[in-house]
Amino acid sequence: MVLAQLGGSIARALARMKGATVVDEKVLAECLNEISRALLQADVRFETVHDVKANIKSIVNLDALAAGTDKRRIIQKAVVGELCRMLDPGKPAFTPSKGKPSVVMFVGLQGSGKTTTCTKYADYYRRKGFSPALVCADTFRAGAFDQLKQNASKAKIPFYGSYNESDPVKIAVEGVDRFRKEKCDLIIVDTSGRHKQEAALFEEMRQVSEATKPDLVIFVMDGSIGQAAFDQAQAFKQSASVGAVIVTKMDGHAKGGGALSAVAATRSPVIFIGTGEHIPDFEVFDVKPFVSRLLGMGDLSGLMDKIQNVMPADELVPNLTAAFTLRLLYQMFQNFQNMGPLGQLFSMIPGLSAQFIEKGKEKEGQAKIKRYMTIMDSMTEKELDNTNPKLMNESRINRIARGSGRLVKEVVDMLEEHKRIAKMWSKLPIHNLIRNKRDSLK
Ligand code: GDP
Repeated sequence: MVLAQLGGSIARALARMKGATVVDEKVLAECLNEISRALLQADVRFETVHDVKANIKSIVNLDALAAGTDKRRIIQKAVVGELCRMLDPGKPAFTPSKGKPSVVMFVGLQGSGKTTTCTKYADYYRRKGFSPALVCADTFRAGAFDQLKQNASKAKIPFYGSYNESDPVKIAVEGVDRFRKEKCDLIIVDTSGRHKQEAALFEEMRQVSEATKPDLVIFVMDGSIGQAAFDQAQAFKQSASVGAVIVTKMDGHAKGGGALSAVAATRSPVIFIGTGEHIPDFEVFDVKPFVSRLLGMGDLSGLMDKIQNVMPADELVPNLTAAFTLRLLYQMFQNFQNMGPLGQLFSMIPGLSAQFIEKGKEKEGQAKIKRYMTIMDSMTEKELDNTNPKLMNESRINRIARGSGRLVKEVVDMLEEHKRIAKMWSKLPIHNLIRNKRDSLK
């Protein structure tokens, strides 16, 4: 996504600043200009960029810093802090509690991804042990009920709607009542959208909200709309008591920065982002990990969320706590190619994936993965599961090279690469994190 470019540009600006022999006003100004340019290119509003720059400048007062202070660190900290502040309204959103019935209403323009997101949201909580249900109160768009029905069935989530009833308020109330009786603890109401912000849409939203008394109103916004995001977010915020935002289509060509910064300006937190058309393409949005991932510092809490939600923990945890064998590397590559759960983990680990997915080097990275997998295809089960560094002797390496039709040097390179990755892996605090998570789930 284009946001990766933003992250790359900011990280490069910081790296250049850190590499300068002396950090003075000129170096700081260059760094800030570069960061501003990157933010503007990601469609963040001019006013916001101006504020970010001014705030960093006022935090980093080079003249007032005592000699010997690490200016580079102070600047980096100020930049990260300001990026977080730009995205964080500092007000947590309502979160549903298991066993306690809550109603969550979804609002947004037509085509924003609202219906798809309702199912993703329901599925996210279903995986956490909730009993969610979906109500289709979108009577404006033909086919909306069929779409919700199809998505809900796929995700095995109960749903309610009508082909004949044209009053969205009536459907919403009936659906909520029914699922309350059925003891569902998360009732999600999908409302109508319109092509643009208009009075009829806001009036309908108000009526459905008044009748169903939602605990949370989630505004769904298309992340690819760039600068227009600000007006849209504000209009919805003024007309409905929006408590949280989900930004969709953050995959592909979404400029994203515009939408993310705009929603923060309306003081409603972004709680999830949509990263594709399918149900699992959904990520919890947490500002700090997001910024650190954006700047290439890795996102361990996002990783933990994936562990818990994308993949059954029992399946994944033994893999992750075990030694980093060649088999695990093979599985990661396999998943990485179609961005399955292990592949997503792979791309979230700092440093681990850099050489395989580095911007502009994707083709080389893919070719390398394919070559490594061909080599591993010629290994025995014992070799794939091996943890003894002495096992891979010359005769085994020669046999693997012959079997895979690759050069001996290529096999040696791959084994070295595996060692390097395994070393990085063992240093990650991931094992402790997993243990804590597992204990807290007991
Ligand atoms: P609604 O009119 O707001 O209910 O929007 P829909 O849920 O029907 O979605 C509109 C289109 O956007 C559909 O083709 C969805 O598959 C697609 N869509 C929804 N969320 C995402 C996302 O996060 N990424 C991508 N690439 N497409 C999405």
